[in-house]
Amino acid sequence: MVDSQKTQLVEVDSEESNLYGFSLAEMEHFFRKLGEKPFRAKQLFQWIYKYGVDDFEEMTDFSKSLRIKLNSTAKLVRPNFCGRQSSTESEERTTQKLLFQLSDGQKIETVYIPDDARRTVCVSTQAGCAVGCTFCATGWMGFKRNLTVGEIVGQLGYVLKKVDPTISNIVFMGMGEPFLNYENVIRAAQIFSSESGMSIAAKHITISTSGIIPRIYQYADDGHSFNLAISLNATTSESRRSVMPITSKYSMEELLKAADYYIRSRRRTHLTLEYVLLAGVNDSDEDARRLKKMVSELGRCKLNVIPYNPIEGPSLKRPSEDRINAFLRKVSTIQSPLTLRRSRGQDIAAACGQLAVQN
Ligand code: SF4
Repeated sequence: MVDSQKTQLVEVDSEESNLYGFSLAEMEHFFRKLGEKPFRAKQLFQWIYKYGVDDFEEMTDFSKSLRIKLNSTAKLVRPNFCGRQSSTESEERTTQKLLFQLSDGQKIETVYIPDDARRTVCVSTQAGCAVGCTFCATGWMGFKRNLTVGEIVGQLGYVLKKVDPTISNIVFMGMGEPFLNYENVIRAAQIFSSESGMSIAAKHITISTSGIIPRIYQYADDGHSFNLAISLNATTSESRRSVMPITSKYSMEELLKAADYYIRSRRRTHLTLEYVLLAGVNDSDEDARRLKKMVSELGRCKLNVIPYNPIEGPSLKRPSEDRINAFLRKVSTIQSPLTLRRSRGQDIAAACGQLAVQN
């Protein structure tokens, strides 16, 4: 299925003139340079992000002369929607995987996950990923490049306008390691949460990392109010290194220290620990015991157990239902909130760790 985006949106080669992705302050600066009043910036910000308008001609509170000026000096370029797959797992609530092409031809995926109480969008932050977790299809693609702010924001912009205007939650868990594109991810999250922008409450936005330790400290010190999730996935350095090579650079011990620092830097917020359950790698009773200990030592954190979603390539396996249940029983006595995430959209390779595209 292909949407007919306005030609104006895609036939642009100058990144400098693309206002899609600009913050309010950058728009104010832009209007000043244009010799216009800075209050125009808030109007434009709302048109683009709140109302999803991407044609200056439709911005009716701008004079004709201002619209002509904008048309000759700026453009609004979003990722180009080029296809979707819908899951057939549930008739009522259809998980959708959306494919976008970027201005240089790279492709990225975004997942829309409607649930009973929540409508979540999982956004990508990089084309490909350099971290190379062995259980993740994106990791097998290799790294192409970081996404711009506009390319991250444009994923939600499209979903709000064309799929579901009632999005309640955002997770930065699509393609890429968000903390290796830190500045753009934070700026995109700020546009998502801005009241003049997309108005998603900061507490409903979660940024996930595989454990880029310097950025965890920076994130804690910057005091952002978005949630943080750390992909832990093992209880010993050895088994973590076997599935997350980044452990050789950032050790597990240092990662737990950084997690602790983040938790202490917040009054109430919980940290989420993600734990992809892999048969024979991290699903033993011993692992459950060590995991319980880690979680209780950290204190304010939630544990999210995700049975592995198989992908082509590695010889990893999802544990049996009996093993999953036995593992959960072992860790279920922790004081912290525990959830089991059975990822949606496995039939369309949209579940956790399954995103990958061929360019
Ligand atoms: S799990 Fe995240 S960090 Fe690891 S390879 Fe996949 S996208 Fe990259």
